[in-house]
Amino acid sequence: MTLNKIGVIGAGTMGSGIAQVCASAGLHVTLIDVTESALTRGVAAVDEGLQRQVRKARICEGEHKTILAQLHASTDYSSLGDADLVIEAATENLELKLRILRQIEAVVSADAVIATNTSSISITQLAAVLESPERFIGVHFFNPVPAMQLLELIRGLQTSSQTHAAVESFAKAVGKTPITVDNAPGFVVNRILIPMINEAVFVLQEGLASARDIDTGMQLGCNHPIGPLALADLIGLDTLLAIMQVLHEGFGDPKYRPARLLKDLVAAGHLGRKSGRGFHSY
Ligand code: NAD
Repeated sequence: MTLNKIGVIGAGTMGSGIAQVCASAGLHVTLIDVTESALTRGVAAVDEGLQRQVRKARICEGEHKTILAQLHASTDYSSLGDADLVIEAATENLELKLRILRQIEAVVSADAVIATNTSSISITQLAAVLESPERFIGVHFFNPVPAMQLLELIRGLQTSSQTHAAVESFAKAVGKTPITVDNAPGFVVNRILIPMINEAVFVLQEGLASARDIDTGMQLGCNHPIGPLALADLIGLDTLLAIMQVLHEGFGDPKYRPARLLKDLVAAGHLGRKSGRGFHSY
């Protein structure tokens, strides 16, 4: 099964990035959001992303126009009628996603694949809302989508091999490297990354080293491109705390308890780069 016509639900940070990489790969993209203003912002983000590619001489001005012409924006779910693959990338909220998935299934063809970009909700639980749960899979893109090479494919309990194979080919067609993982809290990458960052917060909380030295230690000692606390500030401390809570609740294992300092900083509104202050100041 070749997936050429792609629907993307949600024109925010991730949806616009996914739309950009799909359109850049020559796929036809329909971007859906609830308001015209959200769509305008999403399309402007794609345009800006492509302009950056032109400035870096990765594409020419003509290609920029051709890629933008592959992208259509709409507030109407019925424009997904001919989609081969619809990727849900709306706000991280279970009830909202369940509603959106029902809306998608009501308009797409019987053999269309339906996917979600959720970073923390169970793929198996989301699949269960569909009449045909075997056509559902997690496609976890990383931020910023155009720059990050990985695509984590998450198989729910119900996901068919056919669905997985189709999405694996799609990943390669849009220039990403897929890895396949089974559904579990945090999937694989966040399961490893986020507790590592949380451990760095424990180290800071215990006064073992300064934030700057913890970051320098991991950069120079482990060749990480960015230190864990600087990365925490980039991700957003509220997002980080939410993922630790998903791991803690999902596994019921105390090793996933969020560090007290992380909870305190979130309560104080020190959320990292987006609020101007987290473990470092901006
Ligand atoms: P965002 O807030 O930037 O964008 C969400 C968009 O969804 C908004 O434009 C909103 O208007 C739209 N939306 C809300 N309800 C909708 C509906 N009923 N129909 C259509 N659109 C609707 O969020 P984001 O950061 O792009 O995250 C989107 C998804 O991607 C979430 O599930 C998140 O967990 C996941 N994710 C985020 C990141 C990240 O770093 N931001 C990384 C990986 C995965």
